[in-house]
Amino acid sequence: MTKPIRTRIAPSPTGDPHVGTAYVALFNYALARKHGGRFILRIEDTDRQRSHPASETMIFDALRWLGLDWDEGPDVGGPVGPYRQSERSSIYREHAEDLVRRGAAYPCFCAPERLEALRVEQRAKKLALGYDGRCRALSTTEAAQRRSAGEPHVIRLSMPKDESMVVHDLLRGDVRFERPQMDDQVLLKSDGFPTYHLANVVDDHLMEITHVIRAEEWLSSLPKHVQLYRSFGWDEPIFCHLPLLRNADRSKISKRKNPVSLNHYRRAGYLPEALVNFLALMGWAMPDEREEFTLRELVERFDLKRVSLGGPVFDIEKLTWLNGKYLRRMAPEEILARLRRQLLSDDYLLRVLPLCRERIDTLEAFFDYAGFFFAGEVPYDAKALSGMIPKERTPSETARILKSLIEQKIDPLLEWDAGAVESALRDFSESSGWSAKELFMTVRVAVTGRAATPPLFDTLDVLGKEICRRRLRRAIETLRTMDEGK
Ligand code: GLU
Repeated sequence: MTKPIRTRIAPSPTGDPHVGTAYVALFNYALARKHGGRFILRIEDTDRQRSHPASETMIFDALRWLGLDWDEGPDVGGPVGPYRQSERSSIYREHAEDLVRRGAAYPCFCAPERLEALRVEQRAKKLALGYDGRCRALSTTEAAQRRSAGEPHVIRLSMPKDESMVVHDLLRGDVRFERPQMDDQVLLKSDGFPTYHLANVVDDHLMEITHVIRAEEWLSSLPKHVQLYRSFGWDEPIFCHLPLLRNADRSKISKRKNPVSLNHYRRAGYLPEALVNFLALMGWAMPDEREEFTLRELVERFDLKRVSLGGPVFDIEKLTWLNGKYLRRMAPEEILARLRRQLLSDDYLLRVLPLCRERIDTLEAFFDYAGFFFAGEVPYDAKALSGMIPKERTPSETARILKSLIEQKIDPLLEWDAGAVESALRDFSESSGWSAKELFMTVRVAVTGRAATPPLFDTLDVLGKEICRRRLRRAIETLRTMDEGK
């Protein structure tokens, strides 16, 4: 009997939910659903510094919004949990010890300074970077003695000493890797926490994953992963690395060139079914070449082997065009229902109204005053533009400051509320040399298109991170063209 198919998405909760996560989730979902298997969500939060619970919640919300629901995961449980790696530390430690006992991994006592000196030397001699294997040569008795004496160490995987290694990818066939990509990888750090490689392989095995479908950027880790399976004596799953999503200029998709947060697309009013359809086109084509199809139709026809490797371009214009087609097919009642879930929900309106009540005399005035709470981008008239640029500052300086504000303070902010936004802006004012007065007015006008608004931080809070970020970017573009126009 063939094993039931089990696939997984294994995001790291370190930022806003990424379109790449949805893309990979979609293909894993489609394969599992097509064969009546199970689709699993595992949270890979081994990077304790960068992982954030708010990010995890946003991943759940975004994937559910797209209709990519999972059968097992941290929030729904399942037979092979826990599904959050931070709750599985002892499992990884036991497995690392097991490898040491089998002679397939070894403790390494090299201090960070020695490793740094080694790197410097390798760079100077133009050698491939990597661990030189000094501790691999230690006798087991000496290594054991040093460990029990409490000497700090990591555990490293013993990679084969061969010049190259051939591994198999479903879409690429045999792929050969040469020595430099076969470094003796750290499996367990000196604090006892696992690296991605160990945790990922141990979990895929224990969670009985049959198909590891993930982004191409992980292909270079495959020799290490395959070596881990061999060292444990485990059967390997099928590996399938999906082609990277690209910006229009064919570079790897990045937030500098495209919005990559799923929250952006949701707030901007893209329909989840259109986004799913669009993501499916990134590497998949229906047997009849039809471009529009539902998630259910994708599942019915899905065949992993038909995924093509040509670098798919995440072309927002095409997505928007497709979205428009979906929207125009909807009955007005359906569109209304969608609006009511978001911008016209009681929830949202009841956050906007308290900010506007003091400033309107008739109901009609609400529409004029509060328009910017509902729009996507806002236009800047001449008055707005001059309000956006403080006296003694230039448009390009203002553009630069807004760009640093986004990168240093807005992007990393995962919990968005008035208090958090205020302290982020105040911090930034201190470090940037812009007074709070200058900075706040610039941000106010950039985000709302006007100089008179309800209290700034409450306004930014209600608007949400995505809209603020988007309008700030638009302001930056506008300011830059002003300088060009001079
Ligand atoms: N945690 C990895 C990520 O964030 C998972 C990669 C994999 O699927 O193996 O993409």
